[in-house]
Amino acid sequence: MNYQPENYSIKDERMKPFIDSVEIWNIINNAKPTREKVKKIIAKSLSKRRLSLEETAVLVNTTDLELVKEIKDGARVLKERVYGQRIVLFAPLYVGNLCINNCAYCGYKASNKSMERVTLTNNDLVQQVKALEDTGQKRLILVYGEHPKYNPDFIAETVKTVYKVKSGPGEIRRVNINAAPLDIEGFKKVKSVGIGTYQIFQETYHPETYKKVHLSGVKRDFNWRLTSLDRAQEAGIDDVGIGALFGLYDWRYEVLGLLRHVNHFEAVYKVGPHTISFPRIQNASELNIDKRYLVNDDDFTKLVAILRLAVPYTGLILTAREPAEIRDEIMQFGVSQIDGGTNIEMKGYTEHEKNQNIDKEQFTINDNRSLEEIMNELIEGGYIPSFCTACYRLGRTGEHFMEFSVPGFIKRYCQPNAMLTLAEYLQDYANEETKLKGYELIKENLVNYNDDKFKDKLEEKLEKIKVGERDLYF
Ligand code: SF4
Ligand code: SF4
Repeated sequence: MNYQPENYSIKDERMKPFIDSVEIWNIINNAKPTREKVKKIIAKSLSKRRLSLEETAVLVNTTDLELVKEIKDGARVLKERVYGQRIVLFAPLYVGNLCINNCAYCGYKASNKSMERVTLTNNDLVQQVKALEDTGQKRLILVYGEHPKYNPDFIAETVKTVYKVKSGPGEIRRVNINAAPLDIEGFKKVKSVGIGTYQIFQETYHPETYKKVHLSGVKRDFNWRLTSLDRAQEAGIDDVGIGALFGLYDWRYEVLGLLRHVNHFEAVYKVGPHTISFPRIQNASELNIDKRYLVNDDDFTKLVAILRLAVPYTGLILTAREPAEIRDEIMQFGVSQIDGGTNIEMKGYTEHEKNQNIDKEQFTINDNRSLEEIMNELIEGGYIPSFCTACYRLGRTGEHFMEFSVPGFIKRYCQPNAMLTLAEYLQDYANEETKLKGYELIKENLVNYNDDKFKDKLEEKLEKIKVGERDLYF
């Protein structure tokens, strides 16, 4: 049973809970930042080595503004040296908002009777996916509330449906999942239909706070959630995403909690999580939380820079919860993925209301730009927007690690694939102005290739896209 965690027993050492809040607080309380220490830690990260919990604690305790600037500059340098100019785009799609839990911070909580409850029918789902494809999206994350209806069979069926939808030249090439924890059999089922990443956020790594904000429902069980991605690993899903909801508890503790989670994965499975998300609490229908821990913009941008330095090879995901200005700053710290053209209302991609309706959403979003606007702005800012799914489709696993550690990987694979997927977008979906600017950007980036053989191959593929071929990659 997936919804009866009290029936599970920890038989496997690997699935034992690994968060010790006393240990984490001791590390934070013993970390004393000095100019020398902070500089040394930044230098360690820039030499492509992951930071320890103790080193990260020094950074989270740094308040001297000059040093904070150095931390942010360090994150920018790392981004420039390692990640280049491409940024991968995706869109979230809410499949159903039934929920049996009562999370204090979420509009979908079971006790919220003013919330409209919707589960997309097969036809609804097809319509939403078509609408997304018609804007140029290629990568989705499907989001589900926690409810017996959204069992592994249901999730698997919805994934299969999404992969089948083709609208004009559009198709979804990678479906990621954000759903409740499953048991090992459940994870095997969803793996079998070809999902990309399975994402589950712990919300808070502080067990007492966790109990306070998860008032009732299965989600109250801290350890069932904490060990969920271990079960995913056991089921063969090694592409997992972790995250914390910033604003529930002290942000410094949560940064270390995330890092502890990464350590656990690396120690047990020899591979870290694929991505880390760091959503910040936003207004929601019937929001009911302790506002003491809300994270201001200065701390938020600082914590993202610290995460970048702490785990230099893990993908960072930034979402439309954040307003455009904060997104623009944080992207300079090497965020690898952002969502674009996001609508989180149920059926929101076909029945879009001009003003956000708090009784239809899990929380409010602060970046309402369309995908086209985002593409335009990214191009203007010199970023290469990418819809690349090459590694996943070629079975190249551990892609974020490869980007980071395999010399030349980004130049040889990510950057060209970004150009190819951008060219597809420009041909199929962009207006004339974006098309001109986009091809100009591609031209500028082609100059960086002095290996003539490779450049010829890339140019050949770009020409093929101009005459109608699609889905070309390295
Ligand atoms: Fe349900 Fe998820 Fe919202 Fe909690 S956060 S109430 S589990 S939809
Ligand atoms: Fe990601 Fe691989 Fe594409 Fe690079 S080539 S953007 S690592 S999928």
